Amino acid sequence: ETGKPNNFIRNIIDADIASGKHGGRVATRFPPEPNGYLHIGHAKSICLNFGIAEDYKGTCNLRFDDTNPHKENVEFVEAIKKDVHWLGYDWGDRLFYASDYFERLYAYAVELIKKDKAYVCDLSPEQTREYRGTLTEPGKDSPFRTRSVEENLDLFARMRAGEFRDGEKILRAKIDMASSNMNLRDPAIYRIRHGVLHHQTGEAWCIYPMYDFTHCLSDAIEGITHSLCTLEFEDHRPLYDWFLDTLDVEHHPRQIEFSRLELEYTITSKRKLTQLVDEGHVEGWDDPRMPTLAGMRRRGYTPASIRDFCDRIGVTKSTNNVEMSVLENCVREDLNPCAPRRMAVLHPLKVVLENYPEAQCETLQAANHPQDESMGVRDLPFTRELYIDHEDFLEVAPNKKFKRLVTGGEVRLRNAYVIRCDEVIKDGDGEIIELRCSYDPDTLSKNPEGRKVKGVIHWVSAPHAVAAEIRLYDRLFNQPNPGSDREGGDFTDHLNPESLLTLTRCYLEPNLKQAVPGAFFQFEREGYFCADPDQSHGLPVFNRTVTLRDSWAK
Ligand code: ATP
Ligand code: MG
Ligand code: MG
Repeated sequence: ETGKPNNFIRNIIDADIASGKHGGRVATRFPPEPNGYLHIGHAKSICLNFGIAEDYKGTCNLRFDDTNPHKENVEFVEAIKKDVHWLGYDWGDRLFYASDYFERLYAYAVELIKKDKAYVCDLSPEQTREYRGTLTEPGKDSPFRTRSVEENLDLFARMRAGEFRDGEKILRAKIDMASSNMNLRDPAIYRIRHGVLHHQTGEAWCIYPMYDFTHCLSDAIEGITHSLCTLEFEDHRPLYDWFLDTLDVEHHPRQIEFSRLELEYTITSKRKLTQLVDEGHVEGWDDPRMPTLAGMRRRGYTPASIRDFCDRIGVTKSTNNVEMSVLENCVREDLNPCAPRRMAVLHPLKVVLENYPEAQCETLQAANHPQDESMGVRDLPFTRELYIDHEDFLEVAPNKKFKRLVTGGEVRLRNAYVIRCDEVIKDGDGEIIELRCSYDPDTLSKNPEGRKVKGVIHWVSAPHAVAAEIRLYDRLFNQPNPGSDREGGDFTDHLNPESLLTLTRCYLEPNLKQAVPGAFFQFEREGYFCADPDQSHGLPVFNRTVTLRDSWAK
């Protein structure tokens, strides 16, 4: 009993502990390939693996699954470590690379050959595909399947020594070309890759082990008890077990599959995210529109909100295409109690209070949080010239629900006075450029005499306002399942051209000048915002993390 919501994996672990399997020990691992940044789908796996280790007082290894050197690099290794830490998990001294085991894996491959369970095959990739057969037709044995153990040992050693070109030979497991499971039709174990510098092993190797062979043996070497992976590996489990059984490996971890996280209106495939970055559809891996942890961090998502999300979606075997609103609610709930309130005018409209003395500046005080006094107060300068949001003014109210400012009407300025609009100033094109207003000096933190003023709007003092750029984000795709290639088109066809709206002339209350990158706030009536590290425009930049309410629920 761990207090966490139960799931079928925890039930299996409970049963294994009860039966004394693995001596009651629990050891998991999170095995990313360093060929991209982590995304929200990976967060599910991280929370599951590290969460189980925490709750069962076990261990969780961070293992880089680095057998594809041409797609991998150290930047990705470092980014992954940073993101796992940021999410709140620590692998301690349990950091491993599959490449740490290359020598041992090689020895295991030699052992398979000696058992006549692996052979060197000279078929070309095209021929190999042809020989594999189809789902409805059995495959054919490779003509090289009957090579002697001696010849295979010699050829494999020469593969390692670099005597053959890429693709000229592969080492294959000798299983069953007629198996109904395609993964068992003599899968490749080693391939030749010349001329790539591996980020960990450099030029030491020109042959690299395949995922299926590497993964089960890495798990066994590390003493993993429960190897948790996504459902597409269910059909690989017989192979996982075959390698360990055939090699008579003492420790045999149990592979358990769960469904991948899919999130509506975005994609959780590293290959596709890589394409978005490489083709410049986004600014980079940490673009705040990306479902990567780096992008979400920059957008203002908190680690706690992502962990909470992973708890809420749970772990099952059924496909889950989760609505974005579930994720957004998690960050709202996390930020609401702790985000300091601020005022920011996104579409500024100048207001001049004609009855307010020209040289006067009052310092008003405003609570940092309406429900939490312990968060203290801040100073707000109040002057004759202010900015309000253009969207908070209309010359004539369109209906009775319109509680903002109209010509001749009154509205309360949040944390300040009630004002009335007396006159609208327009430019030559008829665009409203300024409002002439008057304020009621008797309305500071009290209701006006004899009338009800319902609307409350935000504002900033014009001479004190901090100019800023504000970036508003919408869905990255305009389709709930952009990744499903069912129409044959490219998923980038479904990119939302309006996923980013940059407002370059916003005005913030003065204390926001000091906001450090990553600091988050609620801009009242506008949403939760986070200070961006980008300083390139000489203006502070804020990203909208999420609106205050679910604006997609229409
Ligand atoms: P991708 O298809 O995005 O490249 P991957 O599985 O190839 O994903 P890895 O770096 O190998 O990427 O993933 C590391 C771990 O994270 C694996 O155990 C994998 O099963 C898990 N994982 C990856 N994507 C998801 C997802 N969408 N939901 C849950 N777990 C995931
Ligand atoms: Mg993988
Ligand atoms: Mg992948």
